[in-house]
Amino acid sequence: MRISVLTLFPEVMQPYLDASILGRAGKAGLLQVCFFPIRDYSLDKHKRTDDYPFGGGAGLIMTPQPVFDAVAAARKTHSPGCRVIYLSPQGRRLTHRVARELAQERELILLCGHYEGIDQRIIDELVDEEISIGDYVLTGGELPALVLIDSVSRFVPGVVGNENVHDDESFEQGLLEYPHYTRPADFRGLTVPDVLLSGHHANIQRWRSDKALEKTRLVRPDLLEEKEGSSSV
Ligand code: SAM
Repeated sequence: MRISVLTLFPEVMQPYLDASILGRAGKAGLLQVCFFPIRDYSLDKHKRTDDYPFGGGAGLIMTPQPVFDAVAAARKTHSPGCRVIYLSPQGRRLTHRVARELAQERELILLCGHYEGIDQRIIDELVDEEISIGDYVLTGGELPALVLIDSVSRFVPGVVGNENVHDDESFEQGLLEYPHYTRPADFRGLTVPDVLLSGHHANIQRWRSDKALEKTRLVRPDLLEEKEGSSSV
């Protein structure tokens, strides 16, 4: 998957992309992330990329020119229909399902806002979709872009070693996942449930299903309602 990120702060994103699973995916050619540093496209003699809002109000707004030119430059490196996503608290909520859907795209262009946001004409003219990572406001779109890239990449074949890893994972079946334990079986008197050491696969499966249900009922009953709703249609 090829993703271009338009941001004022590529340096905060690169280290995360270079580490661990995403770093390996990058090296294996499964994930390619390119940066278009928006400031580089500013025609202003001081390389400004923001200005005061018309009508007054707090904060600064990212100006259209550098973003229009950065998007044009990114577009040249992608297929014609490549989707442009603006990370924004006003967008569609990023969920497991949305991440899976976006992973079907071979390419994406992500736009990160900063300050009080971006000029509306950018959204009207260049953006296909706004995506939010939750109902809170961050200082910039860089963390949301990383969250999107991380969650979407996990669905790209080969990025997480075993393809079946998703099967039991939280949200996949409309439930949270069961608890995990690893060695040692007894850590300072804290022991692992016997069933997991029994080697009895059917019992382990049953225990895991019960635990997944129990946890979901306790902390995310909304998921169960949604699951029941979707299975009754
Ligand atoms: N004034 C905007 C509003 O009230 O909707 C918020 C702007 S926010 C301070 C600056 C930038 O951070 C946004 O342009 C967006 O790119 C990013 N951002 C902040 N919160 C976000 C969220 N929950 N999801 C996605 N992006 C977010």
